[in-house]
Amino acid sequence: MARIAVLPGDGIGVEIVPQAIKVLNKVAPKYGIELEYSEGLIGGAAIDAEGIALPETTLQLCKESQAVLLGAIGGPKWDTLPAPQRPEVASLLPLRKHLGLYANVRPTVLNPALIGASPLKEELVKGTDMVVIRELTGGIYFGEKYREPHPSGEKAVDILVYTTEEIERIAKLAFDIASKRRKKVTSVDKANVLESSRLWRETVTRLAQDYPEITLEHMYVDNCAMQLIRNPLQFDVILTENMFGDILTDEASILSGSIGMLASASFGGNVAMYEPAHGSAPDIAGQDKANPLATILSAAMMLKYSFNCSEGAEEIERAVAKVLAEGYRTGDIMEPGKKLVGTEEMGNLVCEKLGE
Ligand code: NAD
Repeated sequence: MARIAVLPGDGIGVEIVPQAIKVLNKVAPKYGIELEYSEGLIGGAAIDAEGIALPETTLQLCKESQAVLLGAIGGPKWDTLPAPQRPEVASLLPLRKHLGLYANVRPTVLNPALIGASPLKEELVKGTDMVVIRELTGGIYFGEKYREPHPSGEKAVDILVYTTEEIERIAKLAFDIASKRRKKVTSVDKANVLESSRLWRETVTRLAQDYPEITLEHMYVDNCAMQLIRNPLQFDVILTENMFGDILTDEASILSGSIGMLASASFGGNVAMYEPAHGSAPDIAGQDKANPLATILSAAMMLKYSFNCSEGAEEIERAVAKVLAEGYRTGDIMEPGKKLVGTEEMGNLVCEKLGE
């Protein structure tokens, strides 16, 4: 029995996660995997029910499971809370830290059926196939934060820290992933300005000596932001620190047509976590408009990485490709002449195409 902690969270999280579970329930038994789901509260939903964004019961549930499937957290209702109590700061970051999830892996692939959905020119994005490896438990998001009085009002401080060990372990993962792909790593930093980036660059360069088959290049983050939309085909594996990765992955999502298409997996400890790359999309929440494919593709990553079932993962990926090839679209990837469907129907369509 494989235990999965299910954390739908807030906003569209509660609409998209059930679609992924529907798909998992159809695929997993075919490969002899018996799944058992236990639901936990997180984010704004947990604040409303229990007054705390990451209840101990949820954390315990995650630790006792083999994998976590997360929807999304946050929303305007909780935006006015003091920063340390907000869902993002008080649930997602500590959950990643407690589970030791230092590596976030986000494949960015443009499905051929969605070329027209990308706002970029077809000749630029056709063939996009990269993985962004983002460090997830270090850097400025986790450094000391405080405010103090200042003659002009206040002074706010966020400290950016990286250690050799933190850089080495994420870089190793990037090199290992690249060695099974096109063997190129682009390490993204701001070494012309930041000391942490200089340590990042030195450490990655040193480690590269153990991977002679990999081509390593370094790129400043501002240049990378430009290169991602100027020439995305140059990238195979992008390796970067926490905040740069947060920003670049949202930008890269456009290459796949919509952020609603981008799956992700986080690794590092005993339990891996799978979640779409997007947030809780309050603007479309509760309207059956959300694209569930990023979550469904995250569930496929779960089968592959947590349950060693690549065939099941590929079956899901093929089903998603078929649904798109037949012209079904949620609003975020809609184009003239295609068939607009809601969240639930998109989930049903993927289920129908499984095994075809
Ligand atoms: P967002 O990703 O929620 O939404 C950005 C835009 O993309 C919106 O227009 C939204 O409608 C659209 N979008 C996102 N996912 C979609 C989907 N599956 N289908 C169709 N359209 C989709 O980012 P935001 O608006 O900056 O943040 C909203 C809330 O989500 C905030 O509270 C933020 O802190 C939180 N957030 C949570 C996570 C997470 O849970 N991992 C990540 C990012 C943001």
